[in-house]
Amino acid sequence: MIDAPTNLTRNILIGMFAGFVVGAIFYYTNLFGDQTSSFVEKYVFLLGSTIFINLLKMLIVPLIFFSLVSGISSLSNLKSLGKITTKTIALYLSTTAIAVTLSLVVGSIFKPGAGYNSEISIAPESLPPGQGVFETIANIFPSNIIQAMANNEMLAVVFFSILFGLALNKTNHLTNNFSESFEKLNTVFMQLVITIISFAPIGVFCLIGKFVIVDGLDVFQEAFKYVVLLIVVLLLHAFITYTFLLKLFTSISVKTFFVKMKDVAIFAFSTSSSAATIPVTLKTVQNDLGVDKNVASFVVPVGATINMDGTAIMQGMATIFIAQMSGIDLTLIQYIQVIILAVVASIGAAAVPSAGTITLVLILQQFGLPLEAIGIILAVDRILDMLRTSVNVTGDAAVACIVAESEGLLDKKIFNK
Ligand code: ASP
Repeated sequence: MIDAPTNLTRNILIGMFAGFVVGAIFYYTNLFGDQTSSFVEKYVFLLGSTIFINLLKMLIVPLIFFSLVSGISSLSNLKSLGKITTKTIALYLSTTAIAVTLSLVVGSIFKPGAGYNSEISIAPESLPPGQGVFETIANIFPSNIIQAMANNEMLAVVFFSILFGLALNKTNHLTNNFSESFEKLNTVFMQLVITIISFAPIGVFCLIGKFVIVDGLDVFQEAFKYVVLLIVVLLLHAFITYTFLLKLFTSISVKTFFVKMKDVAIFAFSTSSSAATIPVTLKTVQNDLGVDKNVASFVVPVGATINMDGTAIMQGMATIFIAQMSGIDLTLIQYIQVIILAVVASIGAAAVPSAGTITLVLILQQFGLPLEAIGIILAVDRILDMLRTSVNVTGDAAVACIVAESEGLLDKKIFNK
């Protein structure tokens, strides 16, 4: 298991606080003079945050490619898994779509970012031309994968990664288990993600400092609304959506389900990583919820990789928040694009702390929204990351129960014990 950086949460909080304080000193006082102030703004905050954002962007394409390819190519038997796979993937995709839709509905009703106008907002003329449904669908199928990767066309990259993973899976016997090399590369890449995330305290310091030195502290009142709304949607999804789905598709007691999921949720909360929680999720799903081992060993790890409802909720809310803050009204087509992109971005997010904020970049980029706003999202992200990871793993377990029950592979005796 890859070690996550120690004390990351604490250090990010320190970086954030320092960013607030230093930025506020420059914004509200003239202690060091205008020259020093503009120097700090440009060469400390702007440079530091640009480097950090660049590093995040650098990760997106390879992150999605390696995690999808290694996940799909290492499935042991695609054919016998066929039915279970189809159900699992369909459930994962639809729960995530429900999650982000819920988030967008709440976000557009309660408007977390309205009424604030950031000077950092981009000029409207630099917005990319709106993409129609036709282009969105056509662009899933790239004519040139290198170009698609270079242009961060994520749907195309995902499509290619899935095809590549399937081909790799089918040719394993001819290539001397070449898929293992991709699993190894994925591990190396995870390490790279962790390394870059370990610089988040400095990155957050610069991003926050840059915001405060330009805009003052007002924006964080709006962030407060974002945090509260996000927590509400996370709880609604965990307790209402999953309850509804479990009641609809299974005959198990929802209360027992949540009681037995307590440890998994707490573990996910404290590690902020669905991947690190896999052993606990697997154990609970098999030993306490009574899901058959073969179902669990496919559904849980795949879920940890691709099923991130909590992450999608955050990405939907963050997109609305940043768009409203920048005075941009999203059209209905764009809302639908956000749903598709958030499903993809949550699939592409690695199951490690803060990964969701990395793939959030791709949604913001798609709509020409200011990437700098990631600073505000990161500033309040630690606790939200913990919460959404708990939602992510709860979703994995709920789907495992639904799939197992539909196949007659859920042991009620174990469940009710
Ligand atoms: N920490 C989340 C997870 O591991 C991913 C994220 O949303 O950042 O599930």
